[in-house]
Amino acid sequence: MKGKTVLIVDDSSTMRAIIAKELEEDGYTVLTAENGMEALVMIEWLDKKPDLITLDIDMPVMNGFEVCERLLEKPKKPGENLHVGIPIIFVSAKDTLENRRHGFQLGVTVFVSKPFQPHDLVKIVNNILFPPELFAGMTVLVIDDSSSVRRVIQMILMRIGVTVLSASNGLEAIQIIENFPGTLDLILTDYMMPEMRGDEVCKLIRQKQKLDQVPILVVSAFNEKDLVLSFFKSGATDYLCKPFIEEELIARVEIHLRARQYVKQVEELNKRLEYQASRDGLTGLYNRRYFQETLDREFALAVRHRYEFSCLILDLDYFKKINDSCGHAFGDLVLEEFAALLPIQSRKTDICARYGGEEFVILLPHTNLESAANRAEKIRALAESHLYKDDQHSRQVSCSIGVASLNAHIPDTGDKLVGMADKALYQAKERGRNQVWLYAEDTP
Ligand code: GH3
Ligand code: MG
Ligand code: MG
Repeated sequence: MKGKTVLIVDDSSTMRAIIAKELEEDGYTVLTAENGMEALVMIEWLDKKPDLITLDIDMPVMNGFEVCERLLEKPKKPGENLHVGIPIIFVSAKDTLENRRHGFQLGVTVFVSKPFQPHDLVKIVNNILFPPELFAGMTVLVIDDSSSVRRVIQMILMRIGVTVLSASNGLEAIQIIENFPGTLDLILTDYMMPEMRGDEVCKLIRQKQKLDQVPILVVSAFNEKDLVLSFFKSGATDYLCKPFIEEELIARVEIHLRARQYVKQVEELNKRLEYQASRDGLTGLYNRRYFQETLDREFALAVRHRYEFSCLILDLDYFKKINDSCGHAFGDLVLEEFAALLPIQSRKTDICARYGGEEFVILLPHTNLESAANRAEKIRALAESHLYKDDQHSRQVSCSIGVASLNAHIPDTGDKLVGMADKALYQAKERGRNQVWLYAEDTP
């Protein structure tokens, strides 16, 4: 059950029956009227207004255009507007461009010509009342000083599932752009507007970072070649001549939105690839390649700005035994859970990486030797008390940690700093494991 009501207005009883059958079969509730006057009276008196109206053009008493005019009339008193945004479809044998344009000016953007193929009409009605999700989540800004043009464009665009923002002039548009940074996927602008012309709006938008990639479609009644060229020179992506019909506008908008979707997908994919390229697959920490790239840069920054900088190297104790006794999968679980302990109490600027099999490294900018040693001791204690468990095994695994620091040990490169921490780690292993060892000049 669709729970939506469609009012069919047609003087031919056969036509009313055909349309009603199509819609009822698809679950719509149908009301019918023989002419425009009857339709208006029905709409006025109905408590629950129809969700959509199909309207014949040629009818006795009152034709389709007059019905539209009456429905779209400005309310005399607030709340008196009959139309309240009910979408209208013209269903007529008189499918002329003239009629389409006339309808368009009245705010009717969909035209179905008689005779139509079975299911054609119901597809259109479904499309209007249940917009496809194709462009859901995409946002279009419509800039036009005419409120009726804005309304018509908005109605068309909402049917393809986009969110529509609208502005009545360039300044308002810029304000909206600033309030919704990074959310716009397409901008439609009129040319002749008070205060700022469409080409000036284009130029302003193109100066804004983040918006230099957003397509701009200029919609204008002016079609002189030089002028159209000037739109493109000002940064427009495309141009559509007014008056246009719905299919034209939809076709253009879809092209731009699809391209935009594609660009967004590629950007998303790039981000994912970049992320994956820098991460270790098992633990999610940075991988060795990323660590190596970052080390020199971080070291240089610390030297240049004369701030403290420390390095911890951590290695699980007797890890081989875990693998041997509990299996490789359990070993992986230990690595994953140990890695998850490392960022505890870390700062945003710390860099945690998997250095090798069961060896990890942490770079600590703005941290002196003493604080680094404290941090190492906290990690050691935490690791020692952590219970690694799966269905079959339950183990505790300790770790050894070596610490070195820029100001305490004066290495002249990042690699040397890591080398010092590694030597300290070796000492920690030598002296019984499960301990933190600081690098010293005489460390062998
Ligand atoms: P020590 O206390 O001296 O560090 O002894 P250890 O056994 O921890 O060190 P060793 O270097 O002898 O062994 C490390 C083991 O880690 C050997 C290797 O099979 C295992 N290993 C390396 N990478 C992985 C991995 O990704 N998953 C698993 N499950 N094991 C790994
Ligand atoms: Mg080990
Ligand atoms: Mg090792």
